[in-house]
Amino acid sequence: MWRTTQRRTGGSMAGPAISRSPATAFAASVAVACAMVLVGYLAIAFSEVSAQMPPTPKLATVTAPVVQVEATEVKATEVKATEVKATAVEATAAKRPAWALALHGGALDEVAKIPVDRRRSMEDSLAAALRQGREILASGGSSLDAVERVVKVLEDDPLFNAGKGAVYNAAGGHELDASIMDGRTKACGAVAGVSTVKNPVTLARFVMTRTRHVLLIGAGAEQFADEMKVERVDNRYFDTDYQFERWQRRKADEAQAAPPKPNKPDQPDKPNKPDKKGTVGCVALDQAGNLAAATSTGGLTNKRFGRVGDSPIIGAGTYADNATCAVSCTGTGEEFIRHGVAHDVHARVLYKRQPLAAAVSDVLRKTLQPDDGALIAVGADGQLVADFNTDGLSRGLADSTGRFEVTLGK
Ligand code: ASP
Repeated sequence: MWRTTQRRTGGSMAGPAISRSPATAFAASVAVACAMVLVGYLAIAFSEVSAQMPPTPKLATVTAPVVQVEATEVKATEVKATEVKATAVEATAAKRPAWALALHGGALDEVAKIPVDRRRSMEDSLAAALRQGREILASGGSSLDAVERVVKVLEDDPLFNAGKGAVYNAAGGHELDASIMDGRTKACGAVAGVSTVKNPVTLARFVMTRTRHVLLIGAGAEQFADEMKVERVDNRYFDTDYQFERWQRRKADEAQAAPPKPNKPDQPDKPNKPDKKGTVGCVALDQAGNLAAATSTGGLTNKRFGRVGDSPIIGAGTYADNATCAVSCTGTGEEFIRHGVAHDVHARVLYKRQPLAAAVSDVLRKTLQPDDGALIAVGADGQLVADFNTDGLSRGLADSTGRFEVTLGK
């Protein structure tokens, strides 16, 4: 006969307990054991059935932020949610390099006319600069350090139209322009018309980090260089025979050509087409996800004294924003200023949601005219773009996947 009593368990009230005779207790135990065996069988049978069922929608939810490929794979293989996450991370990492770097050594006018030995030397120089940038980024350094370093190396190289090797202006001297921009903060700095600063890109970085201004010019910039202990040199330091000869040829050509037309953007023909060669620039994405860009130039051969091109103009020759891309341009500076080219590439990606390569192509082919110039860009996802509407572009591309390419020309 079943009787209920109150029983203390572990010092707390455990509710009604049951007391019974030994025979009844034995029968009850057998019944409980049978029931447990039955439940066990049912559980096994149920799990086998459910293993053959299609995956639940929960798995698809896990893959939502990942590209379509992974979602399809999940359905096909019915892997567990935790495994899906691991696959997604690996796939994303494979698509997105940890760091990426592009540099340019200027748009090229007549690629076929570059002497072979000069061409080889330029390729070697571009590769050496690319290696320096790669070293910084691969070891976890910042994109700002990488772009400054790469541009500085190329400024010191007489083969390029920036720093040593800068073109001659109409007065027979050299005036240099440079800029740098931090895509993380949109901080930027630039110098224009400096004639005694050995590495204008370094001075531009000091303008960014040590003043409340963006652009310093001429004598004021040089005075600031002294304050920052940035090396200054005699203007003749920038002389090279190669650029001197180009300047002589250019002067002769211009003397024979019709006088330049005034600045009229609606006139599609370009009088006195400026010859473009050797401006340098660099864009980078670092492992922290920060973008940066820098550009440096001697400008255009036989330019008027005091002329400033796009290279030191933020938004024209240089731009960087972590949300979109980093851009460095080269070409006929007046056109790049007129169309705000570097910022336009950024704006197309931001507002129009254009893929970076399409944004660059549209600017070069729909906004600019053939032969205006070229640009390099790196996206926030590490995608590298180098494109031109000139005869060619000297460039180098590298990223954390092992990519390392140097190209002179097409
Ligand atoms: N964009 C530079 C300037 O106009 C020249 C060049 O890139 O070759 O000053």
